[in-house]
Amino acid sequence: MIPYGRQDISQQDIDAVIEVLNSDYLTQGPVVPKFESAVATRVNANFAVASNSATSSLHSAVWALGLEAGDLFWTTPITFVATANCARYLGAEVDFVDIDPATFNMCPEALERKLVAAEKVGRLPKVIAPVHMCGQSPDMANISKLARRFDVKVLEDASHAIGAEYKNNAVGDCSHSDITVFSFHPVKIVTSAEGGMAVTNSEKLASKMQLFRSHGITRDEKIMQGESEGPWYYQQLALGFNYRMTELQAALGLSQLKRLDKFVLRRNELARRYDAMFSELPVTVQKLQADCYSSYHLYVLQLSCESLAKRLSFFKNLRAKGIGANVHYIPVHLQPYYQNLGFRSGDFPYSEDYYSRAISIPLFPGLSFSEQDYIVETISRELPQ
Ligand SMILES: *Cc1c(COP(=O)(O)O)cnc(C)c1O
Repeated sequence: MIPYGRQDISQQDIDAVIEVLNSDYLTQGPVVPKFESAVATRVNANFAVASNSATSSLHSAVWALGLEAGDLFWTTPITFVATANCARYLGAEVDFVDIDPATFNMCPEALERKLVAAEKVGRLPKVIAPVHMCGQSPDMANISKLARRFDVKVLEDASHAIGAEYKNNAVGDCSHSDITVFSFHPVKIVTSAEGGMAVTNSEKLASKMQLFRSHGITRDEKIMQGESEGPWYYQQLALGFNYRMTELQAALGLSQLKRLDKFVLRRNELARRYDAMFSELPVTVQKLQADCYSSYHLYVLQLSCESLAKRLSFFKNLRAKGIGANVHYIPVHLQPYYQNLGFRSGDFPYSEDYYSRAISIPLFPGLSFSEQDYIVETISRELPQ
């Protein structure tokens, strides 16, 4: 089976992890800060805070941004559930902004309409979280302009998008947001097995996220209440979690980061080949924005037929022929957990239409041209009318 995504592990990666195993520290050693500063430098952000998953990073980020029970948090339905869940952990209320069907990303016009309506009833969100779907940046210039106008904080879920660019700047430089989060899950662009990173230009937000990922505990005398009682002393200032990344994860991530540009280049090369071959077939693909360089975490086809039954049999036929197709994503508001919070089918029609026609096909650096040709040939034969 050719999977839809697969990690690329080199001997150098393996050696880096073994070196940590032979060292004094498996956690809280020197490699995590090294990985953090390497990511911060690469994406041109001032601070980076690593944690054991992007889900933990998102949770830390919304906590640092001051999201509380009763506050509102908006994202888009076309994302992984973790983007929305991070707000629920804090008891905040989640709502969604529909996607632009061409880019699969949060639609700035829909966002503006929703913000105007929310202001009228005094229910503006505290934080909005646009998602870099498939690795392509949302329209961050317009989203951040709206955020400033309505005094809303911005968290970019760039789990798909390390190595991507927006207006010739690295995604993660936070020039249009307060915090940006990356994921290092094995299917993403670079991996640390499990792992996530939140980057920001605000020292205050970075130190809050550091506190949150380690039980709310500090050893920094500058932020303690009163005097330190000795070298053993620490204080718990808030209710945090154990969200720390291990040294093994950081060593793998740091080693992988060296090949980030190579991975993204190869993903783009494969995507251009897919684009050319699919231009002849009755499918549509994500619209490329001129000011974006995508990291191409995913390659999603939109079938022209709207029959769920036809997509299902197409999907099964691909799997039977060794092509590990997948679907990203089931709209979050259609999940039973969110339905129980009051969302209904029909609430976000563009997202629902996207889902009914979406299929992710294999894309990863190790995919060969001949495998790719086989995938396209099979799709063109099996494609529902
Ligand atoms: C993968 C992913 C996450 C969660 O990442 P983990 O590192 O697995 O916690 C969150 N949001 C999006 C959009 C993702 O794709």
